[in-house]
Amino acid sequence: MIPYGRQQITQQDINAVVETLKSDFLTQGPKVEEFEDKLCEYVNAEYSCVTNSATSALHIACLALNVSDKSLVWTTPNTFVATANCARYCNAAVDFVDIDKNTYNLCPVKLKQKLTEHKKLGKQLPDVVIPVHFSGQSCDMEAIHQLSVEFGFSLIEDASHAVGAKYKNQHVGSCRYSDITIFSFHPVKLITTGEGGVALTNDKKLYKRLKLFCSHGVTRDQNMQLTPNENLWYYEQIDLGLNYRMTDIQAALGISQLSRLKESLIKRHEIVQTYNTQLSNLPIKLPSLLIDCESSWHLYTIQIDNINYDRNLVFKHLRNLGIGVNVHYIPVHTQPYYQQLGFQWGDFPVAENYASQTISLPLYPHLSKQQQLEVIDALKTALERGKI
Ligand SMILES: *Cc1c(COP(=O)(O)O)cnc(C)c1O
Repeated sequence: MIPYGRQQITQQDINAVVETLKSDFLTQGPKVEEFEDKLCEYVNAEYSCVTNSATSALHIACLALNVSDKSLVWTTPNTFVATANCARYCNAAVDFVDIDKNTYNLCPVKLKQKLTEHKKLGKQLPDVVIPVHFSGQSCDMEAIHQLSVEFGFSLIEDASHAVGAKYKNQHVGSCRYSDITIFSFHPVKLITTGEGGVALTNDKKLYKRLKLFCSHGVTRDQNMQLTPNENLWYYEQIDLGLNYRMTDIQAALGISQLSRLKESLIKRHEIVQTYNTQLSNLPIKLPSLLIDCESSWHLYTIQIDNINYDRNLVFKHLRNLGIGVNVHYIPVHTQPYYQQLGFQWGDFPVAENYASQTISLPLYPHLSKQQQLEVIDALKTALERGKI
């Protein structure tokens, strides 16, 4: 089976991890700090707090922004469940804004409509909005940021798909248009630490709160303590935090992976170019490219939007032909857990329609030319067999 995504681990990565295993620190040593510095440098952000997953990073981002049982968090239905769950961990209410039918990202026009309507009706406005840069292509952050200023909410970018992506000539993660940006280092994403994530910010106060919630709510920073004293062992728990820390072993892998990000992005780009040309005559819709964006190409999603073809059949035939295609995503609001909270099929029709037509094709740096041609041939066969 050719999978839809796969990590690439080199001898350099293995050496880096082994070196750390033989060092004095397995966790919270020099590698964590070095990885944090390198991430900041790469995206041009001031501060970063690495974590044991992007889910953890999303959770502490919400905590840092004071999300509570009185808060309302809006996000996109076209994402992994973790993007919405982070608000639920804080007992906040969640709602969604439908996607744009071409970018599959949270639609700024619909966001504005929903905000305006809520304001007019005196309904609660969101405290935090979490746009997701789906497949690696940035949302229209300038427009969303403008709305955050106008309507007074905070912004967390879930950039799990967008490590290495650019928006208006700046790296996603620079937090130019948001309070906090999250990356994921899960093995199917752009770079990996096994499990891992990061929260980036330019705001020192937010950074201190991210660090606080990442490690038990405990601080050795005298400026944050209630009754600081001079004893060297002294620390205070000033809030209820978690243990979401990344280990030095993971950070060593992350540093090594980050050093190869540029070349792996070039490989992804080449594979996408081949898909774009070789699939252009098929009765399917290919991803739309935006002028302001440079995608990191985490995913290559096609739409079986022609009424003569059955997506489910095409999908099944692709799997039967040994192609590990996938669907990103089943809309979050249709999950049983979210249906229990009151959401229904039909609530966000653009995301639902998109999900009913989408297939993610294999895309990862070491997908060979031969394998890619196999995928393309299989897709042609599966379309033939998926006619209705
Ligand atoms: C993968 C992913 C996450 C969760 O990342 P983990 O590191 O596995 O916790 C969150 N949001 C999006 C959009 C993702 O793709």
